[in-house]
Amino acid sequence: MNARGSGPGQADRHGELSSAELSGSGGLRNLALSRAEVDRSTARRGDADWLAAAWADPGTRVVVVEDGQAPVRFRDGDTGGGDGGWAADGAQELAFVAPEQAPDGVRFLLGTDAGGVVYFGVAGSLPEDLWPGLGPDVRPISLRQAGPLLSDRDVGLMTHAVALANWHGTHRHCPRCGAVTEPALAGHSRRCVNDASEHFPRLDPAVIMLVTDPDDRCLLARNAMWPERRVSILAGFVEPGESAEQAVAREVLEETGVVVGDARYVGSQPWPMPHSLMLGFRARATGGLEIRVDAEEIADARWFSRDELRADIASGAIRLPPPVSIAHRIIESWYGAPLGGAW
Ligand SMILES: [Zn+2]
Repeated sequence: MNARGSGPGQADRHGELSSAELSGSGGLRNLALSRAEVDRSTARRGDADWLAAAWADPGTRVVVVEDGQAPVRFRDGDTGGGDGGWAADGAQELAFVAPEQAPDGVRFLLGTDAGGVVYFGVAGSLPEDLWPGLGPDVRPISLRQAGPLLSDRDVGLMTHAVALANWHGTHRHCPRCGAVTEPALAGHSRRCVNDASEHFPRLDPAVIMLVTDPDDRCLLARNAMWPERRVSILAGFVEPGESAEQAVAREVLEETGVVVGDARYVGSQPWPMPHSLMLGFRARATGGLEIRVDAEEIADARWFSRDELRADIASGAIRLPPPVSIAHRIIESWYGAPLGGAW
């Protein structure tokens, strides 16, 4: 550990958070959507016989994804409105269907668990008459809602399924010739029916970074599209021909006028809404600290000490991103303790 966060006012739980949440390399661990348990069975994706046998097995489980949502069973009546942390106590779980109950739609192999159970996803609509059979406590929810609630196994399956469903839904034609493409490799690629070119899922890397000044204050900003009081750390997409570290420096400079160096990677989280991969960084201001927001993307930005952040959250003057986001977790890792006040 370096000396960061050792100043007065540090929360008592700093040490606890560091050991539990940070790996030896200083990275964030246990991010809500970065959890997974099921092996992806990549070697089986081209094995038509194995795939057919797995689909014919009544023990196979299918996650149905429609509009970014999947059916989840709420055993304890909790509707998922809580804030902070994820219980993963088994009270909520994906409501799977058997292959014979699955709707028409693009099918993709998600993997095989340690007990040999095979999981598929299907992008489609569950038939109306199937819903009563799933039980009164089952309803479809989004990944943002499900992320903090589901077990490692289920959140990994749902994140994988939503990401593939989003891609299949918007990439139905060949970028080379415009002809229709068809799913291949158990739903992990698409092949053009005309020229046989193969196309793989699109993933948009984005950097998200917590910038600190020499006094270890952190830079928080409000996006121009957000309501008043909502703040977060800066973020932006990596451009073609650019490294993630270069993107960190460029985005911070463009949005706030602050020059940063020492971009240090702290962890990543898939964010398939619709197809991002969030790459988390810490960076330090190395030049002037005066903030000049770009006024287009960023409405307001300023430096916060830990005491100021705590006070502004307590008074309701600001609200942070929800715990499912990597932004929330990076802010907590700087602060040194869990934070509430999420939007
Ligand atoms: Zn083509």
